[in-house]
Amino acid sequence: MSDCLFCKIIAGEIPSTKVYENDAVYAFRDIAPMAPVHVLVVPKEHIPSADGVNEQNSTYVARIFEAIPKIAASEGLSNGYRVITNCGEDGCQSVKHLHFHILGGKKLPETMA
Ligand code: AMP
Repeated sequence: MSDCLFCKIIAGEIPSTKVYENDAVYAFRDIAPMAPVHVLVVPKEHIPSADGVNEQNSTYVARIFEAIPKIAASEGLSNGYRVITNCGEDGCQSVKHLHFHILGGKKLPETMA
């Protein structure tokens, strides 16, 4: 999508700090990290949110979750980490391209909401 921030990052039109890439997945450092390690993992196809996952595009979600352990290992997250996706208004999703936050590098707070 031409006006999507993360599509532009994937295309290299907006700079990012890449940590992982394959044919389906791109991962880069969050610009405003909320933990010592804060990586965003996105599908290379524009999917608006978790609410837009369906039978035609769910392979991207599988490919993302195959990539996450590799990214976690390369980031040294051997003691665990958190994976989050915010969805829609009530989920406080600010970028409308499906993305999973990998957070780690410290003991994270127990509260989720
Ligand atoms: P969310 O609020 O779940 O939609 O998460 C969007 C995330 O994208 C936030 O954590 C932002 O800090 C991050 N973000 C926004 N713009 C950029 C950018 N240009 N490069 C890297 N991360 C970004």
